[in-house]
Amino acid sequence: MLFFILIFMQFLYIECFYSSKMSKILSLKVVRMAVDHEVDVAVIGGGIAGSTISFLLQERHNCKVALIDPSVNIEGHWYPNYGEWRDEWHALSDLLQLPELKECTTTEWEITDCFFGGSNDIPMDERTTLPRPYVRVDRIKMQSLLRSKFFKANGISIPSKLSSTRINTNIFDKNLAHTENGSILTLDNGDVVKCKVLIDTSGLESKLVCKEDPMYARANRKSIPVGFQIAYGFIAHVDSLGPYDKDAMTLFDYKTNHLEGEQLIDATNRPTFMYAMPLGKLPDGKYRVFFEETSLVGKDKRRLSFEECKDRAYKRLKFHNINILGVEEEEYCYIPMGGELPDLTQRIIAFGGAANMVHPSTGYHACRMLAAASDLAKSIGNGIKENSKPDLISINAYKSLWHEENRWQRSFQVFGGDYLMQQNVNKLRGFFTAFFALEQPVWSGFLAGWPNLPGNEYHDSWYKRLKFALNLFLKMPNDVRISMVLYSILHTIEYGPFTLVRSLVPSFVVGDGPGNPIYDAPPVIIGDESAKQEARSMMKQFKPSATPKGRIDLNKVTENSETIPAPFN
Ligand SMILES: Cc1cc2nc3c(=O)[nH]c(=O)nc-3n(C[C@H](O)[C@H](O)[C@H](O)COP(=O)(O)OP(=O)(O)OC[C@H]3O[C@@H](n4cnc5c(N)ncnc54)[C@H](O)[C@@H]3O)c2cc1C
Repeated sequence: MLFFILIFMQFLYIECFYSSKMSKILSLKVVRMAVDHEVDVAVIGGGIAGSTISFLLQERHNCKVALIDPSVNIEGHWYPNYGEWRDEWHALSDLLQLPELKECTTTEWEITDCFFGGSNDIPMDERTTLPRPYVRVDRIKMQSLLRSKFFKANGISIPSKLSSTRINTNIFDKNLAHTENGSILTLDNGDVVKCKVLIDTSGLESKLVCKEDPMYARANRKSIPVGFQIAYGFIAHVDSLGPYDKDAMTLFDYKTNHLEGEQLIDATNRPTFMYAMPLGKLPDGKYRVFFEETSLVGKDKRRLSFEECKDRAYKRLKFHNINILGVEEEEYCYIPMGGELPDLTQRIIAFGGAANMVHPSTGYHACRMLAAASDLAKSIGNGIKENSKPDLISINAYKSLWHEENRWQRSFQVFGGDYLMQQNVNKLRGFFTAFFALEQPVWSGFLAGWPNLPGNEYHDSWYKRLKFALNLFLKMPNDVRISMVLYSILHTIEYGPFTLVRSLVPSFVVGDGPGNPIYDAPPVIIGDESAKQEARSMMKQFKPSATPKGRIDLNKVTENSETIPAPFN
């Protein structure tokens, strides 16, 4: 009898209200009682990185995994519209032995278009067609694929949050403590999770992960500041496609002929490009397109606002006589790029955005993360099997993610991102014209920039990067060459020689690793708060005027959507 009473109490615990409607009628709330979990691995964050690593550890390495995220049980909670190169996507499907991954796309294009005209005597409308297919990831299908495999292998999901902030390496303000044999987490719902290994996949601005000191990274006191990719995206129903080919994905439209006067000057100095994915025709013959006006990377005054991106997108479409008939959804793209890597000696294993795996000069992340996931899972899985100490498991995990060669390759990408951030639109057009004139496997490899991805074999050692840099330099217009040389000098004066030198010369010349670590508790990242605040307030104002099936009668739209996704901390 006591047993039944306890079960009953667990589900019917009188405290408050159950749901918003019922709450008006009843003064009862069903509250679940806190549960204790003991697992091998706890994963904080159920985005693309957390979902991938938890599935691999649970299904392939027999670990007992708890995946923790407030939205973990909600289908389709991933926010970004992922666009990737098809050859990378297919290579990952093979690497991960996950054939279903190939089916996780909504749209595929056989060719990819770019517009770099308007500078260097290239006509504004000139189109550069890259014979390389592109895909738009079906984020709902992919999430459900990973989740169903995870659950089938008996993985545990906990729909809650870890509210904890790092105050020093391995020390947190509350709710998380490391012990010799593992970590203890207290979640917002009261559950306590004891785990041997703790993986942080909470995204690009984790509050848990400690970043390494720049002195350790490149023997210089000054951090290279984080840049931000800011983009305003939307799925629109439109009556025509203007310059965009219905069968091509447009990766870069750097044309500026839709602007004049002050706006043209601003767009020249603080460039944005249009990224356009035609998603097919609607039953009424109109087109469904994902448009995204994007600032590749910027900081301080060169960091665009979402309103500016939106304004430029609408002006661009109007200039091309593309009429917007309805908007299904918006995307506020905020990607911190560059910055310091995680401190490789800490207990928490950062992965995905939290481990700075975003490409510092392009913003691509998903394929890099997927390419790293198998090795990381193997390293952690072996550590658990061998009953290694948690600190040793973490050290080996970081060795698999950010081994020395990979660090030098990233340094080169950080330099590239920082260079691009400073250039006006003419230099960017010249730079990209030269870049895409390289052989396709070579430029593909730079955009991927991670071991196991196609083309990376052209960038994975100092002499290959040097060869790439020299070839690119030879193809550049003169003004771009001069800007590159000047920038290299300024960068070296400001941040020391090691970003570039360590990535382009052999280790016996400059030493084979970073200096000694110096721990002075670098600050927890807060990112660009004004950009995030702007995105939150614009999201609140958005009212969809179309659905994938057709347009909505605006007179019937009275309320804002209640479920506003929150992709920012
Ligand atoms: C709008 C946008 C578009 C992008 N487009 C692309 C693209 O086309 N191609 C590409 O390669 N990359 C793209 N990126 C970059 C990158 O791939 C994404 O940022 C990617 O989602 C990062 O994956 P993640 O799993 O590390 O983090 P996230 O996707 O941010 O997931 C983090 C998860 O952790 C959860 N979480 C956070 N804090 C806690 C906590 N304290 N406790 C529990 N759970 C927590 C969150 O709810 C979230 O579900 C895009 C990024 C953005 C923002």
